[in-house]
Amino acid sequence: MGKLDGKVAIVTGGASGIGKGTVEAFVAEGARVIVGDVDSDGIGALMAKLGHNQVDGSEVDVRDEAAVQRMVDQAFRRFGRLDIAFNNAGVGGFSPIQAYSLEDWDRVLGISLTGTFLCIKHQAARLIAQGQGGSIINVASLNAIQPTEGFAAYCSAKAGVAMLTKVAALELGRHKIRVNGIGPGLVHTPATAGMTALPGLEDAFIHEAPLGRAGEPEDVAKLAVYLASEDSSLMTGQTLYIDGGASLKKYPELFGFFGVS
Ligand code: NAD
Repeated sequence: MGKLDGKVAIVTGGASGIGKGTVEAFVAEGARVIVGDVDSDGIGALMAKLGHNQVDGSEVDVRDEAAVQRMVDQAFRRFGRLDIAFNNAGVGGFSPIQAYSLEDWDRVLGISLTGTFLCIKHQAARLIAQGQGGSIINVASLNAIQPTEGFAAYCSAKAGVAMLTKVAALELGRHKIRVNGIGPGLVHTPATAGMTALPGLEDAFIHEAPLGRAGEPEDVAKLAVYLASEDSSLMTGQTLYIDGGASLKKYPELFGFFGVS
């Protein structure tokens, strides 16, 4: 028996990395999943791997409110209900503040923070109407609480996600909808491949992480299963940092790795 038998989940950014690992973990625990992503090829590959009875895809840019609403509707149209949302789509981008373009700032904030808001908004409306509670999980980052050179937009967006998680938990608790966050440290995914390829950067991160290793998507997915399931039924409003202890120390000084003086 799986921990999520009979449940229906939405996973945004589900075609790659942490999102993909979480789709796989949710399905392994018995859930049926709508994968929301801009990457239609990635969605197709995951549906082929996990089976069309368990997984359906929704091509969505989480900045597009109408598309987000369609994605939420699709959970009901295809699988008849909604219980869990894993709002994971997010992007970063490196630049010193004085050179940060407004376009790049808007992109990071738009996908990582506003996109999370739009997902919560439409998921909450449908979960309230369904009347059986639910679990919403938002992916923040270690950088919600730990500043990092060159990541002004990303750190600001993720701090916003952690606070949005608290406000949503406060508002939605009366409907038995729990809202929690996950704050990963460095996790090996396509998004971090460029960073970890920089000589010495991963070693520097690991040096600041008491457990001495970076994470894998499966590490985060296990925490997502816990927050999605009844095992965490008394928990809401929390962002849990899964970072090998890196939040206890400091982030590596990225300006040096990116050649900024
Ligand atoms: P990833 O690039 O492997 O996956 C991100 C997915 O999001 C991709 O499938 C991409 O197509 C999708 N996506 C991008 N923009 C989108 C949009 N506008 N609408 C819908 N989907 C979109 O990245 P990842 O490392 O797995 O990151 C997933 C989440 O975890 C992000 O929110 C990221 O900020 C967060 N995070 C990652 C790490 C890490 O070290 N990998 C650490 C902390 C937090």
